[in-house]
Amino acid sequence: MRREQDDMLRRGIGMTSQRTRERLIQRLYEEGISNTRVLEAIRSTPRHLFVDEALAHRAYEDTALPIGNNQTISQPYMVARMSELLLEAGPLDKVMEIGTGSGYQTAILSQLVERVFSVERIKVLQDRAKERLVELNLRNVVFRWGDGWEGWPALAPYNGIIVTAVATDVPQALLDQLAPGGRLVIPVGSGEVQQLMLIIREEQGFSRRVLGAVRFVPLLNGPLA
Ligand code: SAH
Repeated sequence: MRREQDDMLRRGIGMTSQRTRERLIQRLYEEGISNTRVLEAIRSTPRHLFVDEALAHRAYEDTALPIGNNQTISQPYMVARMSELLLEAGPLDKVMEIGTGSGYQTAILSQLVERVFSVERIKVLQDRAKERLVELNLRNVVFRWGDGWEGWPALAPYNGIIVTAVATDVPQALLDQLAPGGRLVIPVGSGEVQQLMLIIREEQGFSRRVLGAVRFVPLLNGPLA
């Protein structure tokens, strides 16, 4: 009995139960997330597999959690909100993500768009994220180890770009890699002062919408082995 309990605790069973997950979906809905495809993707994605086992029992709280290397898995609300903003004008074919991290946002996106191109600068995080996506049989994702400030020019243009770390300025390369009508969702600022922005490539130039204050880890420079 004792051993069974230990085992259950270790695997986070109970705390990762269907009911706990439903509570998170309900909460996101109440906070204004209305895209049912987004809510469905979050419902069916086991977030506890994207964090350390020791934190699995907190995986369905609406909060960012540490994933090592000074990085965090994004808060579910932010994942939902950014995905919803990307999809607001209709379905998307090619989406580039900057900041793979745990691969959680990647996994959500892969269920919502045709193809995901995900760039991460920290090799060990990327390797772990890759394994998780294979394990979940999410196969429409390709990964690049590199610097997100440069995007992934060889495969551009993209209909959507999502950045999951805060940039001091909007990277020019990302604007250049947006298809006509393409949408870029990105936190901009530094330290305590960060705003989520939606930038759309119009026929002439870009339109910008500021969507409110957010809190992200910084978009750094250069790849890291
Ligand atoms: N969406 C991820 C969030 C991870 S945190 C998740 O939910 O797990 C932000 C990630 O951006 C980190 O993994 C960090 O290493 C990465 N990052 C920071 N600067 C980067 C850059 N210049 N290029 C690519 N990735 C970067």
